[in-house]
Amino acid sequence: MKIICIGRNYAAHIEELKNEIPDEPVVFMKPDTSLLKDGDSFYIPDYSNDVHHEIEIVVKINKNGKCIQEKFAHKYYDEITVGVDFTARDIQSKLKEKGLPWLKAKGFDGAAPIGKFINKEQVRDLNETEFKLTVNGELRQQGNTSLMLHNIDKLISYVSQIMTLKTGDLIFTGTPAGVAAVKAGDVLEGSLENYSLLKFNVL
Ligand code: MG
Repeated sequence: MKIICIGRNYAAHIEELKNEIPDEPVVFMKPDTSLLKDGDSFYIPDYSNDVHHEIEIVVKINKNGKCIQEKFAHKYYDEITVGVDFTARDIQSKLKEKGLPWLKAKGFDGAAPIGKFINKEQVRDLNETEFKLTVNGELRQQGNTSLMLHNIDKLISYVSQIMTLKTGDLIFTGTPAGVAAVKAGDVLEGSLENYSLLKFNVL
């Protein structure tokens, strides 16, 4: 199982990190040991003092596919949820400065919590889906898929030109604005439309 992540897919988040809008989707990966499920607690890695939450829509691939045309991409997933692309921002900033890969900033254990999946048919319009993250009950991030630079179908098509997508692979589709640090004791809750799908503690 692969965890594929898209970076810089919402203009307002690109702006808040002072990044440039990329011509093509930015793709990176996390190892399967990053996956955190069933409300398990997240442990902040010792080597970072600035781990940020990034709430994202997560898509689960339902069959193998390579070089998928955008018009057929919708056949390659049935289920979606929300997840958090945890990012050690202090580490990432140093790596970015040197043009080095982001693994240490993005690939630690538990860096990819995901919620309960729902069928995509339960969502009114996948190109206009609201999702949000609260921390200790306060709204921190709110997004809408209509603001994606590249929508879900485009992302599936794009990624499948690079690597074969396999059943069970997950795609994190990018975060809206509002990223910030988490601290021990925080309770994070992610929802999509009216579905509360993700809840866990930070330790
Ligand atoms: Mg992200």
